[in-house]
Amino acid sequence: EPMGRVDLIQVLNAATELTETRLRDEGIELEWESLKSAVFVWGGEVRLVQVFVNLINNAADAMANRPQRNISITVAQGKPLRVSVRDTGPGIEDPDRVFEPFYTTKTVGTSEGMGLGLSISYGLVQSFGGDIRGANTDDGAEFTVELEPYEEDE
Ligand code: ADP
Ligand code: MG
Repeated sequence: EPMGRVDLIQVLNAATELTETRLRDEGIELEWESLKSAVFVWGGEVRLVQVFVNLINNAADAMANRPQRNISITVAQGKPLRVSVRDTGPGIEDPDRVFEPFYTTKTVGTSEGMGLGLSISYGLVQSFGGDIRGANTDDGAEFTVELEPYEEDE
């Protein structure tokens, strides 16, 4: 897949569509403030969709036993542009380790417990000149993806 100008709204639409059935089945509300105008970033579209699907699935996994299940996605435009995926789960146990390959706190042997999602996502985002960070909030976890805005003369 070539790198180039990617429509972020299209990426987030695709990621939310791909996870829609799971979220509905698990009673998880996903809200995403829709943007007023098109937002273009530098990267690969399929790989960016993969990153956000990973983050949404992790958020859903984290909330499995929670009474309140919400995911919110927000976009802060700037240089870099920041997309945050926030959940109302128990928070990250060890924020320093989550991007390590094979680090998982999930049951071993399930595909969700391979511990590769975030390390792969990290590599993908780095290859686009961006970054990902995970942090705990008052009521859950928040993963922020930083991306380079696409500039016309690139
Ligand atoms: P996996 O999902 O297979 O465990 P990941 O690389 O996607 O692997 O995530 C690694 C670990 O990071 C998870 O096992 C979990 O401990 C932690 N983590 C990831 N996302 C969240 C989240 N939204 N809330 C709490 N912990 C998380
Ligand atoms: Mg995962």
